Amino acid sequence: ENTELMKYVATTCPYCGVGCTLNLVVSNGKVVGVEPNQRSPINEGKLCPKGVTCWEHIHSPDRLTTPLIKKDGKFVEASWEEALDLVAKNLKAIYDKHGPKGLGFQTSCRTVNEDCYIFQKLARVGFKTNNVDNCARICHGPSVAGLSLSFGSGAATNGFEDALNSDFILIWGSNAVEAHPLAGRRIAQAKKRGIPIVVVDPRYSMTARLADTWVRFNPSTHIALANSMMYWIIKEGLEDKKFISDRVNGFDDLKKTVENYADAEAIHGVPLDVVKDMAFRYAKAKNAVIIYCLGITELTTGTDNVRSMGNLALLTGNVGREGVGVNPLRGQNNVQGACDMGAYPNVYSGYQKCEVADNRAKMEKAWGITDLPDWYGATLVEQIKQCGEEIKGMYILGLNPAVTYPDSNLVKAQLQKLDFLVIQDIFFTESCQYAHVILPGACFAEKDGTFTSGERRINRVRKAVNPPGQAKEDIHIISELAAKMGLKGFELPTAKDVWDDMRAVTPSMFGATYEKLEKPESICWPCPTEEHLGTPILHREKFGTADGKGNLFGIEYRPPAEVADAEYPFTLMTGRLIFHYHSRSQTGRAADMHREVPESYAQINVEDAKRLGIKNGEYVKLKSRRGETKTLARVTDEVAPGVVYMTMHFPEGVNNLTNTALDPMSKMPELKHCAISIEKF
Ligand code: SF4
Repeated sequence: ENTELMKYVATTCPYCGVGCTLNLVVSNGKVVGVEPNQRSPINEGKLCPKGVTCWEHIHSPDRLTTPLIKKDGKFVEASWEEALDLVAKNLKAIYDKHGPKGLGFQTSCRTVNEDCYIFQKLARVGFKTNNVDNCARICHGPSVAGLSLSFGSGAATNGFEDALNSDFILIWGSNAVEAHPLAGRRIAQAKKRGIPIVVVDPRYSMTARLADTWVRFNPSTHIALANSMMYWIIKEGLEDKKFISDRVNGFDDLKKTVENYADAEAIHGVPLDVVKDMAFRYAKAKNAVIIYCLGITELTTGTDNVRSMGNLALLTGNVGREGVGVNPLRGQNNVQGACDMGAYPNVYSGYQKCEVADNRAKMEKAWGITDLPDWYGATLVEQIKQCGEEIKGMYILGLNPAVTYPDSNLVKAQLQKLDFLVIQDIFFTESCQYAHVILPGACFAEKDGTFTSGERRINRVRKAVNPPGQAKEDIHIISELAAKMGLKGFELPTAKDVWDDMRAVTPSMFGATYEKLEKPESICWPCPTEEHLGTPILHREKFGTADGKGNLFGIEYRPPAEVADAEYPFTLMTGRLIFHYHSRSQTGRAADMHREVPESYAQINVEDAKRLGIKNGEYVKLKSRRGETKTLARVTDEVAPGVVYMTMHFPEGVNNLTNTALDPMSKMPELKHCAISIEKF
């Protein structure tokens, strides 16, 4: 019996990549509330509406409390012994028959680093496969690819607070105030200090309201707009010639390419005087920072869009010191960490490439195995497309693909083609109905571990209460499964043991010991030695590329995969709300969050609504080539005529419409651009 009256457990918010720290208030074995951490340098005693309610789903009666096995089309309760035997037997049978490419492993950015590390280790050690990925693929995969090409490291260069050291803030494709509220607070602080803010967004968002200049441009024309800016920067001689000569490759290629974009208003829709003003203010500022988000990445040009942001910063010498840089705002709490841990189809932890023989040899020695694969594994959406063909079995940890992946109808059909699907989660999500076995895991309050925020800061997650019923901590589920398969190297009873196992093979994080992570400010990787204090700002002396130089690229504009036409005359963009987190499996169970926005809506321009006879608050049917959905209409001038914006959180929603066309470099699907029609419902 638990007789404690009250305790506070310091941990990290589970809802976005800002990584606010907080105290869970625990009474008699239950979490009863939350208090922001007053000493935190990240959130300074504040939380956003999501953070304040982040505890409300923990003791929901809907939690999965026992393993479930599908028998005769119905789920029945099972013992852990029976469920894990079945999982081990089926995954092994598929591996024996179809080899390492017969299985797919998908993990989540909402779970802790330790879960992600041990999950990818299971895939690689147990099944010799690189078919392991995480859901950063469908948010910031292009950031990893693009920033690696430009700077040699696929991560934010500077921290959130560092925006206050800037003289000019360029926010591009990000609604930080709503999607990353405590990062948005830094922007609001910057505004109070008089730092100029320009927001580039096709939609007049909450963040655009903060700006002194809002630049509306045509959806998905980032490359053309950035190229126009760079043409005028070079034309006026405002490029940083010394920085380029000392530290950058590729200037001639860039200069030649941008010559075609002197006036590209026909593509991007921004008048020339506005382009010039934005370009000159950015280039002339002593220290200018770019902050971006999924408006840049979730397109088939995602990697090139990110490289365009890198181009702007390198051209003007805005990398490698306080107040500058290129900073992606990570969506989920552990987008950065899930990638850092090697839950990625071409790298081990710390971005050590699988194709490099020395890296494979190192991992084989550490893990006591041979024959690790060198091939690039299938990514998230590629794995879905391969279901029933190359891929026969799948293990999904903490993801809800039936709602969150593009083209939901395709995803549901593909999942049904699998011979065996195991899902490990805390709720029976919309995807669970397609599983053969469901394993009940632990939520953030029921496990120890770490999340890595969007500024590469590794924050501790601490166990406050036990998981409900028979549910278990996820590292224990995976190590018990590994034991059933006779695998060695998974006898890691605590999160610290898993972290130390990771550190031992990861030079960039070797010095990030749990002891050092105890401090409220924690540390930012790289942290190569136990004496090292972490690296809040990257690329001070040299870039992480092979020759230590940053890379400029000449990049031509390419249109989206699907553009509006006579049959589907509107462009659909998608985005998130301040009140909800992804598919709402958690925030939908927080009463205040649900009450604020209980159903999806689409913003439709006033002129379009008038023409179609649609009134504010009426239901409309949106249709694309892939499906249709019913949603509320919000009539507004925040979107331009011909453009529709829809919230992304609701089942049977926006992803019935979205497109699975992929960015060729990062394999990011085009979640933020497709063609639709609108009808009155
Ligand atoms: Fe949580 Fe993000 Fe809100 Fe902070 S800003 S409280 S991390 S959801």
